[in-house]
Amino acid sequence: MLALPFPALGEWVHDQQSIMGTEITATVWHEDAAQGKAAIAAVMAEMRRIDATYSPYIETSELAKLNASAAKQPVQLSSELSLLIDRSLHYSRLSGGAFDITFASIGWFYDYRGKKQPDAEQQKSLLPAINYHLLNYDPERRTLSYGHPNVRVDLGGIAKGYAVDRAIDILRRHGVAHASVSAGGDSRLLGDRRGRPWLIGIKNPRQKGPDDRDVVLTMPLNDVAVSTSGDYERYFVDEKTGERVHHIINPKTGRSAQGVISVTILGPRGIDTDALSTTVFVLGVQDGLALIDELADFDAVMIDAQGKVHYSKGLQAPTE
Ligand code: ADP
Ligand code: MG
Repeated sequence: MLALPFPALGEWVHDQQSIMGTEITATVWHEDAAQGKAAIAAVMAEMRRIDATYSPYIETSELAKLNASAAKQPVQLSSELSLLIDRSLHYSRLSGGAFDITFASIGWFYDYRGKKQPDAEQQKSLLPAINYHLLNYDPERRTLSYGHPNVRVDLGGIAKGYAVDRAIDILRRHGVAHASVSAGGDSRLLGDRRGRPWLIGIKNPRQKGPDDRDVVLTMPLNDVAVSTSGDYERYFVDEKTGERVHHIINPKTGRSAQGVISVTILGPRGIDTDALSTTVFVLGVQDGLALIDELADFDAVMIDAQGKVHYSKGLQAPTE
């Protein structure tokens, strides 16, 4: 066989693992496949570290320890947890409380797999504990205390987006220039797919049947973070009311947010697109799009309860 004068340099490397209660996928191009694999292994290790640090279910996690003591005394935060709290509070203020990590004060009592939800009594007594103003956060000292005994914090609306940002940083440090990383509904793209764009799909939120949902919309994208929040990932249907009980909680009611069924946010960083996808889901079509249209770097695609698709201004054709 004739030897090629220039051996084909580089290879795509891919891996998928179940971490953080979701599927983590990474696809990278590297000139040296072994180094590409090592880069992906470093990403997976980082995902495990983030899970071990911020899972509310792991008793030794920094977040679980915070929840166990912050109602009693101020707790010293790591600089990373401090950053996540700070960013969360930013989106709480920006959205008038639609994004609120104290949603977990009630959210903790939902069990989507076991089809259980807090009863009316619990709802009533715990609702006052959902309020980000109860988070006494001191950014200089990096301390946090809770102003109510029933407050509980969960970072499920922001941590996966942060995790894909960390993944992209790690890949860059490993010399990677073309990559796609996703943690469930949060993805981030580095570069293009070597001459072609990456393709990000928005799934049909109401397709019955197998887990593999049809894609209703495909977007060719590069160098961007994309987060989707839907009411179809973790939910059950309340047999009495027929209501869909899912994992995005309206902090005003302590119940699942209604009106929208899917929100996709595009922007530079996952920490922001993740928080904003949850925020806009709670705000609904009108207020949600108004918020995104005010933010220069972000765009949104929303599907309302009637199945109608709505786009932020940046994704609409310019009008004359
Ligand atoms: P996922 O990728 O897990 O589907 P989403 O971005 O759709 O995440 O956010 C849903 C998660 O956000 C929930 O599982 C919960 O942990 C958290 N969450 C739910 N409601 C709120 C809220 N109002 N504010 C902040 N976080 C929330
Ligand atoms: Mg989100």
